[in-house]
Amino acid sequence: MKLIIHGGFFSESQTNQEIKKAKQEALAEIVKLGYKHLQSHTAVETVVYTVSLLEDCDLFNAGTGSQIQSDGRIRLSASLMDGKTMRFSGVINIEEVKNPICIAEKLLGYDDRVLSGKGAQNFARENGFDYYNPETPQRRKEYEQKLSDSIRLGTVGCVALDILGNLAAATSTGGKGFEIPGRVSDSATTAGNYANAFGAISCTGVGEDIVSGAVASSIVIRVTDGMPLGLAVEKTLNELKPFEGFAGVVGISARGELYHADTHPYMVWASFDDKIEVFS
Ligand code: ASP
Repeated sequence: MKLIIHGGFFSESQTNQEIKKAKQEALAEIVKLGYKHLQSHTAVETVVYTVSLLEDCDLFNAGTGSQIQSDGRIRLSASLMDGKTMRFSGVINIEEVKNPICIAEKLLGYDDRVLSGKGAQNFARENGFDYYNPETPQRRKEYEQKLSDSIRLGTVGCVALDILGNLAAATSTGGKGFEIPGRVSDSATTAGNYANAFGAISCTGVGEDIVSGAVASSIVIRVTDGMPLGLAVEKTLNELKPFEGFAGVVGISARGELYHADTHPYMVWASFDDKIEVFS
């Protein structure tokens, strides 16, 4: 059993020791709870549970505490992939819900598995997901101060390998912040979140770059064809260099390899592989 999570990129973490410490503590606690869950649940159940905890933590840009978009609204995107069944489900730009990853989980059982906007919100309401405002005073303050020039990334993700050897990946985001309404993040695409029987990957970074590099699916396909996970990640991130792509990934292979890497300083992450490790 193995588990790795990320909390996206966050440049303040480098300079603001208080925020850095808060993120280290939050990630350590969440990876611990996630690993505990994995002892009695499947990889899919565990990535949903763990990402929902990350969504509820307002230090990260997913669920509660998400970035506000250029029109003052918050839109959330999240996806889930079960490596065993190869089913992918997700919501894109859904509004006024608490845990988009739980709506993605609900969709896993349907024929139509990726819903966007109003359709996703209607589906959520019909399935008992109540109105929820994910805005926090801090994000409103930042929005009002128009801190739009610096892209502030803090997407969350989780990859798990369960006791039966099955893999799953889940990713959730509030987007890159101040984007044009309607922009689609990578997080609810197979470029940002992908799993099969051989490997599972969750990405963070600039969605457009991640989609251009088809990052998560490329890494998993390389692992499927026999490449070690670390090499597959490095090769794929190298392919972003010609266009200065900005991405971070966490992943696990069915062979039990666990890996994280980023193109820029730096992605915040934590893993549970015998013991807890947290970014420093
Ligand atoms: N990938 C996300 C997006 O582009 C942002 C992030 O990872 O923080 O929407």
